[in-house]
Amino acid sequence: MTIYQNLIAGEWIGSDATKNINPSDTNEVVGLYADGSAEDTKNAIAAAKSAFPAWSRSGIWERHVILKKAGDEIMARKDELGALLAREEGKTLPEAIGETIRASQIFEFFAGEALRLAGETIPSVRPNIGVEITRDPLGVIGIITPWNFPIAIPAWKIAPALCYGNTIVFKPAELVPACSWAIVDILHRAGLPKGVLNLVMGKGSVVGQAMLDSPDVAGITFTGSTGTGKRVAAASLEHNRKFQLEMGGKNPMVVLDDADLNVAVEAAANSGFFSTGQRCTASSRLIVTEGIHDKFVAALTAKLETLVVDNAMKSGTHIGPVVDEKQLKTDTDYIEIGKKEGAKLAFGGELLKRDTPGFYLQPTLFTEATNQMRISREEIFGPVVSVIRVKDYEEALATANDTPFGLSSGIATTSLKHATHFKRNAEAGMVMVNLPTAGVDFHVPFGGRKGSSYGPREQGKYAAEFYTSVKTSYTLA
Ligand code: ADP
Repeated sequence: MTIYQNLIAGEWIGSDATKNINPSDTNEVVGLYADGSAEDTKNAIAAAKSAFPAWSRSGIWERHVILKKAGDEIMARKDELGALLAREEGKTLPEAIGETIRASQIFEFFAGEALRLAGETIPSVRPNIGVEITRDPLGVIGIITPWNFPIAIPAWKIAPALCYGNTIVFKPAELVPACSWAIVDILHRAGLPKGVLNLVMGKGSVVGQAMLDSPDVAGITFTGSTGTGKRVAAASLEHNRKFQLEMGGKNPMVVLDDADLNVAVEAAANSGFFSTGQRCTASSRLIVTEGIHDKFVAALTAKLETLVVDNAMKSGTHIGPVVDEKQLKTDTDYIEIGKKEGAKLAFGGELLKRDTPGFYLQPTLFTEATNQMRISREEIFGPVVSVIRVKDYEEALATANDTPFGLSSGIATTSLKHATHFKRNAEAGMVMVNLPTAGVDFHVPFGGRKGSSYGPREQGKYAAEFYTSVKTSYTLA
């Protein structure tokens, strides 16, 4: 089997490899992917550092052309790349193709942003002096990504880093190297100069840690667990480096008595269970007022009955497998914890056997949960959702905000008054009215507050806040 290698200083290298396994069919090896060392990482950082002066001064047209070419190729290959994604991560083929399209759109967006780079000219408060405000790229950016969006998250970090003139060392999650390798290959062939984008696949504790320990990495953008995020923060403070963290959530969706029942059930089923509940914006707490509670639970349970859990590549599958054995154990452990805490298992909770061996778990719904239970406070990252009964809107809002996280917060209501109040008072980076908490646009800011995120927002033109440093220049006329 071919080994897909790391890209360091424009050369494909690496002979040690790890198997990438399909979670829908654990007999299938998706490919062999290089296992980078700390030495490889140091070489990649050195390559990115030496490529930086020229790339930071490269013309905006050159950046535009490369980003556009990458976006176009990803779109042209959306079915093939979507299938690769579905095979390595386990989300359904339509979800995976959708994510691939989104990655293409992100490259298109930043291809456009490259042509819109601008500064400001402002008169000084002193006579005969002009002031210019411009943005400089940071330098070498370390990109560390998780497994749950194998093509979109790398795209939304790589595209702005390049657009604003930075060079990159990119470390994808161990479970999903294939999509990362594919987009690096696409960008390399699109004409990026040597060393501008380096790929080092391998272990977090080896490759990731070598990035954290390097004084030559000017910024780290990280998406992953809270524990690793804290390590990124501590190491970055040590090196006086800029960092941006996206670490997940325990996103609430409030359902009020006046909600359109269909809208609420569709949004809850999508938020809680699609992509196997493995989205940081997934809704894992459904906070439901008394008047609609029983009707809502009955309708949601009926909806869950209709959802097909099966191989991600099969047409008709609504929910693919859990990503791996470790995550499956986390999910089933939390199901046991929920039962012990006294929540009522209203649906699911069982492992499923399918034609191919994989990590199949029923969508799982707890009712009679409280917001103090561990299943309502800790991020599970699987298809496990709690319903919490509350008496009115005020209690619903207070419960929604009573969490250490603050990524996305949703409400289902037909009341303008409550929707407006909720948008103002939800303690979250993103608020959804009559929509799933997950599923966001690619051209507007993404991110949260409290324990979910740290640093400037990602995506859209707000991405410039992280990937650039503002410079104020004064000139005597
Ligand atoms: P998850 O539970 O989603 O896998 P992790 O935080 O473990 O979350 O992983 C997110 C990313 O962080 C992965 O690319 C992983 O390899 C990387 N990572 C894990 N440990 C470290 C570390 N010590 N230093 C840097 N990166 C790490």
